[in-house]
Amino acid sequence: MERIVDIVLAPVEAADPVLVRQAAEAAASMKRGTAAGSRILKRSIDARSKQPRIRLRVAVSDAALIEEDNPRPALRPVSGAPAVIIVGAGPAGLFCALRCIEHGLRPVVLERGKDVRARRRDLAAINKLHVVDPDSNYCFGEGGAGTYSDGKLYTRSHKRGDVEGVLRTLVAFGASPDILVDAHPHIGTNKLPGIITAMREAIEGAGGEVRFNSRVTGLILERGAMKGVILHDGTSAEAESTVIATGHSARDVFALLRDHGLRIERKDFALGVRVEHPQHIIDRAQYHCEARDPYLPPASYSLVQQVDGLGVYSFCMCPGGIIAPCATAQEEVVTNGWSPSKRNNPFANSGVVVTINPAHALSLPDEAADPLWGVRYQQQAERAAWQAGGRRQSAPAQRLEDFIQGRHSSGLPECSYPPGIVPWRLDELLPPEVARRLREGFKAFGEKLRGYRTNEAVVVAVESRTSSPVRVPRDPITLQHADARGFYPCGEGAGYAGGIVSAAMDGQRVADAIKTSYSARA
Ligand SMILES: Cc1cc2nc3c(=O)[nH]c(=O)nc-3n(C[C@H](O)[C@H](O)[C@H](O)COP(=O)(O)OP(=O)(O)OC[C@H]3O[C@@H](n4cnc5c(N)ncnc54)[C@H](O)[C@@H]3O)c2cc1C
Repeated sequence: MERIVDIVLAPVEAADPVLVRQAAEAAASMKRGTAAGSRILKRSIDARSKQPRIRLRVAVSDAALIEEDNPRPALRPVSGAPAVIIVGAGPAGLFCALRCIEHGLRPVVLERGKDVRARRRDLAAINKLHVVDPDSNYCFGEGGAGTYSDGKLYTRSHKRGDVEGVLRTLVAFGASPDILVDAHPHIGTNKLPGIITAMREAIEGAGGEVRFNSRVTGLILERGAMKGVILHDGTSAEAESTVIATGHSARDVFALLRDHGLRIERKDFALGVRVEHPQHIIDRAQYHCEARDPYLPPASYSLVQQVDGLGVYSFCMCPGGIIAPCATAQEEVVTNGWSPSKRNNPFANSGVVVTINPAHALSLPDEAADPLWGVRYQQQAERAAWQAGGRRQSAPAQRLEDFIQGRHSSGLPECSYPPGIVPWRLDELLPPEVARRLREGFKAFGEKLRGYRTNEAVVVAVESRTSSPVRVPRDPITLQHADARGFYPCGEGAGYAGGIVSAAMDGQRVADAIKTSYSARA
């Protein structure tokens, strides 16, 4: 008989399958050595007490447990089936394409960037030569912003879809099954490109298409319906259904929609800095120790503080990580973060951002009603960072305590950001309403996490792409744009996702809506 039990073990014990099984047997009141099978169902770290513990939920049985399989989605050939145009090969676009195939539809994915391998060279050019290709960078290219992301798969969007289904699909395409049990699953930047490539090959293998170097620059609209898109080389692609899943950095697409008279709306977003600490400071604070137990992962944190009516919060925390240069145009500096699967770099970075809500508390001008106001707000900060960085991808930076105190940092600590950092008064460079709230937020974080407030930490500007400043409205049932039948706004850029998993789920939802629309007409 299978029993499910919760056990709490020291990290070293939790790493030993024999000890885990013995503890599960004891918790299930089974005689030691009588379990024929056991499987971890959930794993989390409890670091509240002085000695961090690992909490496990384990299935244990006196009969052998059937190994859980994670098969790839059933992809029957779709050559000759009705085409669905999907613009953007990020998580939203790729999961939409896979689900379209499951529904017997033929996805044609149009992606402005290059495939994973070719894209790697363009990332090296940003890191070493400070040259940004506007079609191939950390945000654009096969797999979108998800490919060279950190690959944290934690989401709060449980109501919006099947989170476990997305994780199982990722495992089927090569992710470690650990992501199915960890409370805060993480893939790592080194593993993501292989998974994305496998997904694309499966789409192509079933008769779908993925076309790279295919930037969409125009829309085909006829009598209130979207009939397809025009590409940068003048060619076009036409279908009854067009999904636009171009991410939060495709500013040209926002402008394109507006210029075609399709409604877009301003929405809240966030802007701030990346902060980087030596990892051992965060480990010490979270694990209450001088040196981290080797059986514990590098520690992370999640901090939030309300300051003058707006949230200041940590975002996309990357323990053992690297600060990434994520500009999508030459004359801007944008930061984000990633970490390899082992999270074995000596730094801990995270975005610390302020909610930008012009209507509330920021008392910003009337022009904030313009749907593209947020884009301009981001651009101003990104360009200011670029100029401060010497008109290169070097990022302006300040020691954390100097930022709080409003002092210049005469020297900067070592930092993981590959193009390098230059000392600058970020407290003066950032919009004042952001700088002031960040300063108060950092003070509060220092109260919450021992050792956080230190001049060994450095703040780097600017973290401006945590979310889309625009929403593309769509009908809540049909998921089509109110101004154009057959047009399905999708994913993070359209304002319906905030991360890999929620973008993937939105892609699936849109594919389901397209299928429903076909079925209704059949
Ligand atoms: C460094 C970094 C680390 C991150 N870490 C995490 C993390 O740990 N966890 C997490 O959940 N999220 C993370 N994110 C965010 C995550 O990657 C995004 O939320 C997610 O990729 C959004 O998916 P999407 O498909 O909606 O859009 P995107 O991934 O942005 O994909 C959009 C695609 O559309 C393409 N495109 C744009 N314009 C056009 C056009 N005109 N024609 C054709 N194609 C076009 C782009 O090239 C891109 O490939 C990270 C992002 C970055 C940059």
